[in-house]
Amino acid sequence: MSKYFIETYGCPMNVAESQALAQSLEEGGHTKASAPNEADWIIVNTCSVRQSAEDRVYGRLGFFKSIRTEINPDLKVAVMGCMAAKKEAKEQLMKAPFHVNAVLPHDQRDDLIKMMSDQITDEVPKFSFYTYHPSDDGIHAYVPIMHGCNNYCTFCIIPYLRGKEISRPKEEIAQELQRHVDQGVKEITLLGQNVNSYQDGEVDFPALIRYLSAQVKGKVWFRFTSSHPKDFNLDLIDALKSDARFCPHLHVAVQHGSDRILREMARETRRDKFEALVREVRAQWPQAALITDLMVGFPSESEEDMQALFAMLDTVQFEDAFMYYYNTRPGTPAAKRTDVVPEAIKSLRLQQLIDKQRAISHQILRKQIGQEREVLLISPAKKTENGFLGRTQRNENVIVVGKQFNVGDFVHVQLRDINGQTLLCDVL
Ligand code: SF4
Repeated sequence: MSKYFIETYGCPMNVAESQALAQSLEEGGHTKASAPNEADWIIVNTCSVRQSAEDRVYGRLGFFKSIRTEINPDLKVAVMGCMAAKKEAKEQLMKAPFHVNAVLPHDQRDDLIKMMSDQITDEVPKFSFYTYHPSDDGIHAYVPIMHGCNNYCTFCIIPYLRGKEISRPKEEIAQELQRHVDQGVKEITLLGQNVNSYQDGEVDFPALIRYLSAQVKGKVWFRFTSSHPKDFNLDLIDALKSDARFCPHLHVAVQHGSDRILREMARETRRDKFEALVREVRAQWPQAALITDLMVGFPSESEEDMQALFAMLDTVQFEDAFMYYYNTRPGTPAAKRTDVVPEAIKSLRLQQLIDKQRAISHQILRKQIGQEREVLLISPAKKTENGFLGRTQRNENVIVVGKQFNVGDFVHVQLRDINGQTLLCDVL
């Protein structure tokens, strides 16, 4: 049996899948190496969402090749995940200068386990969910509930790499959640490219939430990511509100505030519809924090489009946002466009966006001072004696101080002050 080392890039879905793969390898008798130079197999779980993520992987493959040359001539390297799903990748990665031993897309990952045990067969693979995705730290777990995406936004490579949406049976999800809770996990994020289009027979996403609420017992917080506004169903708010374990923390990816850009991105929801949705969500669930994804620098984006985006931020007042600039992904419709925004302008616009959103986030955080919160302690705080970094249900960062606490504790506090984007508190 081999010693393996897994290196993971990209989204929480990749993190969850790497952890599940590690579990399968352990069950097969393989053991984890503490560093790449001690491994027989290095497995790189890759991300293709941005070019920079692929460039980092190519850099690491060069380093792994040097381990094979200088330390372990029998070292084998496998590339999995999104880069492995690209048609051209296999040939490119398996020859010089990388000499990777296996390139395995998502639906062929079981072949890796067979390869490592010398049991490769010619079966045609089909995507299937792992049954268990171990927590990395014992506190938080990622649990995929669906895989793939049917939306084909013009900038996004995901549907080409992960394929059509598949939903995981609700019973399997409930069993995995209960297993995590029984093992002491305190916070679980349900994962999917678009969780709102979950469909297991008659069971849609709100019905899944109700089902999980009834089936899973124990103290735990649940979150989910990510959702598309076009599939956001207000029945979901009712379902979430009916069980206090579901965090008032909604991730709804809008991407832009200019209708022209949204149309060119093939995003169905226009700004007025999105703002109306936000008004209804906030009316139904005032304590909910709204998080989004925002992209600047899409081809042809003008200053006018940026003003529309900023106007939407002023109206919606997102608690937080994941912000990035457009990166060409070969194979997508947007990659064929020639009306690209120069890199320098993309960087400038991204910085303007970050500055504006940070100011909004800070103001919203400041307004929370004086309120009480339950906080989950997630790690020791680096610069505070006896301090912990904690998270609220709204996903606010809070420093909690107290010798008596441990990572994983839930602590009741009153918010006292703010330092940057982090809240300070008194323990109640
Ligand atoms: S909905 Fe998300 S994952 Fe699907 S194509 Fe659009 S950006 Fe990509």
